[in-house]
Amino acid sequence: MLTQKPLEGDPATAPARPAARPAADVVCWFEGDWVPLADAKVGVMTHAFMYGTAVFEGIRGYWNEDQGQLFLLKLREHYERIADSAKVLLMDHGETVDSLMDRTLELVRRNGYREDIYIRTTIYKSTESIGVRLHNVDCRVNILGVPFGDYIETGGIRCGTVSWRRTSDTSIPSRAKVVGSYVNPAMAKSEAVLNGFDEAIVLTQAGKVAEGSAENLFLVRRGQLVTPGVDNDILEGITRAGILELAERELGMRAVQRAVDRTELYLAEEIFLCGTGAQIVPVTSVDHRTVGTGGIGTVTSRVMAAYFDIARGRAPDYAHWVTPVY
Ligand code: PMP
Repeated sequence: MLTQKPLEGDPATAPARPAARPAADVVCWFEGDWVPLADAKVGVMTHAFMYGTAVFEGIRGYWNEDQGQLFLLKLREHYERIADSAKVLLMDHGETVDSLMDRTLELVRRNGYREDIYIRTTIYKSTESIGVRLHNVDCRVNILGVPFGDYIETGGIRCGTVSWRRTSDTSIPSRAKVVGSYVNPAMAKSEAVLNGFDEAIVLTQAGKVAEGSAENLFLVRRGQLVTPGVDNDILEGITRAGILELAERELGMRAVQRAVDRTELYLAEEIFLCGTGAQIVPVTSVDHRTVGTGGIGTVTSRVMAAYFDIARGRAPDYAHWVTPVY
């Protein structure tokens, strides 16, 4: 069952638990060297700061007390995705998937984390000059980690469809995890929360369901597991891909990936959101319509139980999901 409270959207905007140690004692990878987190600063003329020209990943590490081991969840998949995002933004950063994985493992070992953590990797356009473009701008890499503590179960969240639409592939592609594009989820999240909901549901320009502000969405309708297809302006979520795998293997449910109407959410038996930061979050109402019986449904609870077992390295059949650090 859920052991951690869903975060306030992506940890990009969530208040991470303050580091137990002063920032000066925590090291991060910054512009080609290991430096104290407190010294990792960029100038105000940095291209990424002025134009949002950076790509990023959020990666979770789960501490397993019994095994004395920290497991990084879907490490390779995150770096494959950042490579894709970097390609979309014409970034030549000199790193490979393997080099980023190695640096991340070294980061965690250097800091000696023995608790749940969140890692943030950013590749950013670092040239300090005015001029909006993608070409002829240098790139740098930053990897940092922060402890992520325990959160309390909420038992489900209330979602609201917002008036903002997801950026389309013809404006800022959602499948690339571009820093500047997160103004769109931020607009959505704040509209939902300021209107009294816990989380936003964002529609595509065509009015189909895309995703939450920082989570992909699954629903169960007439017993069938459904999720918006990748042609619905979603981020191609790593947790989403994992759930597609485990639903088939553990629940015998092959999810249908298709366009989803807003009113299908009102009539769904179950809905849950998923993402690295949010993990698995049951949705108990959408636009004031109760989802199913208003509790946590069977499919959702089974997905949650399996997911947390796998993430904490307790499921040998899913060893390919996790990378042990120590
Ligand atoms: N959609 C958006 C917009 C997100 O920011 C995230 C969080 N990365 C997700 C979906 C979920 O993706 P993942 O499972 O890869 O974390």
